[in-house]
Amino acid sequence: MQPLLEVRHVSFSYHTIHGETPALSDIHFSLSQGEFAAIVGPSGCGKSTLLSLISGLLAAESGQILLRGKNVKGSNTGIGYMLQKDHLFEWRTIRRNALLGLEIQKRLTPENLRRVDDMLDSYGLGAFKNARPSQLSGGMRQRAALIRTLALEPDLLLLDEPFSALDYQTRLSVGDDIGSIIKKERQTALLVTHDLSEAISMADRVIVLSKRPARIRQIVPIVLSIPDRTPMKSRSAPEFKDYFNLIWEELNRHD
Ligand code: ADP
Ligand code: MG
Repeated sequence: MQPLLEVRHVSFSYHTIHGETPALSDIHFSLSQGEFAAIVGPSGCGKSTLLSLISGLLAAESGQILLRGKNVKGSNTGIGYMLQKDHLFEWRTIRRNALLGLEIQKRLTPENLRRVDDMLDSYGLGAFKNARPSQLSGGMRQRAALIRTLALEPDLLLLDEPFSALDYQTRLSVGDDIGSIIKKERQTALLVTHDLSEAISMADRVIVLSKRPARIRQIVPIVLSIPDRTPMKSRSAPEFKDYFNLIWEELNRHD
């Protein structure tokens, strides 16, 4: 079967008046339908740059990026993005925020409306449909932002350090929430984070990058011997700390 996303030998440099900054070097991996992968790497190594290339905002200097076999450059419709800030509009209710993308794309069909209402109900926002964003906790806001993105049924969801503005405890429970929703919806996703535990707890595979210019050091499949895996339960799996140590050493290897 054709992979959903193929990143083929991609390299990229920024060119400014001060010179050239190589950001990515020969990045090569693919993602299957329904898979959840995480990318970890040191701060400034090129992670956000890679997501910009995958979403078609930037063009690769060499190599190719294909979504369902088609070049992403110029046709970035199948991609959903989730960022640190939830970008909810305060003057809109939670339901109308969740419907915003569909409204812009003129896709407010009865079927889509029902799907969004179902998601709001199933993911604990049913009683808050008519509330304003400021009445919700940070975690609930992130859930509303996720539903707004999922409403558009993206082929691929990109998450760029979506929890890094939250304090540690909130971060754990929001990560658990968001990770579980993505799995339940069978959404193919690529999460960028500098938090190893977050990556291991949420992902099927962890792609470990070197410092800038980012190269792939290793791709680690995460297999945990626990039933009904959720991000929170993953953290107490017996293999969790072995994966942590393995990836930690990989990130701190100097060569
Ligand atoms: P990360 O997300 O891993 O922290 P980025 O992808 O944001 O890293 O950035 C990688 C490198 O590219 C950094 O050294 C950064 O300074 C540089 N960079 C990012 N954006 C630009 C830009 N628009 N122009 C020039 N250099 C940039
Ligand atoms: Mg970044």
